[in-house]
Amino acid sequence: MREYDIVIVGAGAAGLAAAIFSAEAAQKKNASPAIVVLDSARKVGAKILVSGGGRCNVTHDDVSPEDFNGPRNIVRNILAAFNEQATVRWFESLRVPLKREDTGKLFPVSDSARTVLHALLRRCEELGVAILTEHRVVDVAPLISPHAGLLPQGGERFSAYARDEIFTVRWEGGALPARRVILATGGRSLPKTGSDGSGWEIVRRLGHAVTTTVPALVPLVLQEAMFHAELSGISVTVEFSTFVNGKVIDRRTGSLLWTHFGVSGPVVMDASRHWTLARVNGQEVKIQCNFFPGRSFEEVGKWLIMAAVARPRGTVNNLLAEHLPERLVRALLQKAGVEPGVQLGQLTREQRRFLTHAFTSFVLPVERDRGWNFAEVTAGGVPLQEIDYRTMESRKVPGLYLIGEMLDCDGRIGGFNFQWAWATGYLAGRACAKSTAP
Ligand SMILES: Cc1cc2nc3c(=O)[nH]c(=O)nc-3n(C[C@H](O)[C@H](O)[C@H](O)COP(=O)(O)OP(=O)(O)OC[C@H]3O[C@@H](n4cnc5c(N)ncnc54)[C@H](O)[C@@H]3O)c2cc1C
Repeated sequence: MREYDIVIVGAGAAGLAAAIFSAEAAQKKNASPAIVVLDSARKVGAKILVSGGGRCNVTHDDVSPEDFNGPRNIVRNILAAFNEQATVRWFESLRVPLKREDTGKLFPVSDSARTVLHALLRRCEELGVAILTEHRVVDVAPLISPHAGLLPQGGERFSAYARDEIFTVRWEGGALPARRVILATGGRSLPKTGSDGSGWEIVRRLGHAVTTTVPALVPLVLQEAMFHAELSGISVTVEFSTFVNGKVIDRRTGSLLWTHFGVSGPVVMDASRHWTLARVNGQEVKIQCNFFPGRSFEEVGKWLIMAAVARPRGTVNNLLAEHLPERLVRALLQKAGVEPGVQLGQLTREQRRFLTHAFTSFVLPVERDRGWNFAEVTAGGVPLQEIDYRTMESRKVPGLYLIGEMLDCDGRIGGFNFQWAWATGYLAGRACAKSTAP
């Protein structure tokens, strides 16, 4: 049975980054630890390949803790250790130059996610990191731990090292002894890529907590009776508010895309975690759209009055269609019970109220989220308080490191989740290399 200094479970973005950074850090000290990455999938990197619509949005040119859901101070410290400029330089060193798009998102110049995956795998190979596919890990057991205090059979092999934690990493076909274990098993988004949440079972057995996990960055399915299907393909800028138990907990402005099943687009995806979390927690949750972002009910009401004075014979439909796609205007007018051809000067006070209501505080009848197969990321995971943010080492099990999406931190759309994977991989990789150095 081969012994490894560092076993990394999961060859996704975080695991591959950790492998590269640990091997590079060791190389700088003229050490050559045995590093292996185990992954359950037959082919690694499936999620990287589908990311960013096949182009892989590697990072963003302006990353801050506010782009993430997670404890600010811890997230800040982790991001500061390996920031977006470090990511750009790192990818350059991997011969993957990045380009910035108007939105601030950074993509490989090649516009191909394959370039990113190939570069990561090539670097692993150059550094002598082994990647074993179809190795589904089922358990990680510390053989010497402060809790157990037991010396395992064969454990004395490692006694020359400064720290003496030893683990047995069990996969479906066998077991490997390891001095350090980095868990990078991801969350549950897109399970067909291999991320099925099994890493959480492993860490739970090791004494870690795992918060409620729900799909995030996920489209929302609306009740069938809604008009979304007729508007499929139309994008509008909206102010999107999530109310939980009657209180606004999230408000953001951005692009909403109507689809055949409901709503998608960046503003919906970014806000979806609040809906999914509230729903699973049994809270009353409501989503409201303002199709005149930044303008209140009163302001839009006044605007309608002024418009009626300025052009009393103009129709409601024509006025609103100057600002919003006509198909959407017609659908909202129908919901408000106002005929499109009504002249502005003839609108009754009540009609104006219904209309203003429909355009500034339209309640989306959300039935459910679109599920793990369509979620880009997971909300929830291992609380960041349970790891040392300087190294990503577990505070419960010395020698065990937790990185990437399996932690309770999720970013918004725009390259932030990969930045999290690179940064946490960097910290754990370097710390492991340091702590295993002879
Ligand atoms: C469709 C889609 C598009 C996305 N686009 C972007 C984007 O453009 N930019 C961005 O920043 N983020 C994007 N994301 C999110 C980003 O891909 C993830 O946040 C990131 O890949 C998480 O990396 P990770 O290494 O933590 O986990 P993962 O990439 O999920 O990797 C986990 C790995 O662990 C393996 N594994 C799991 N359990 C076990 C086990 N028990 N034993 C062995 N191996 C195991 C899995 O096979 C997998 O290879 C996207 C996500 C999706 C689904």
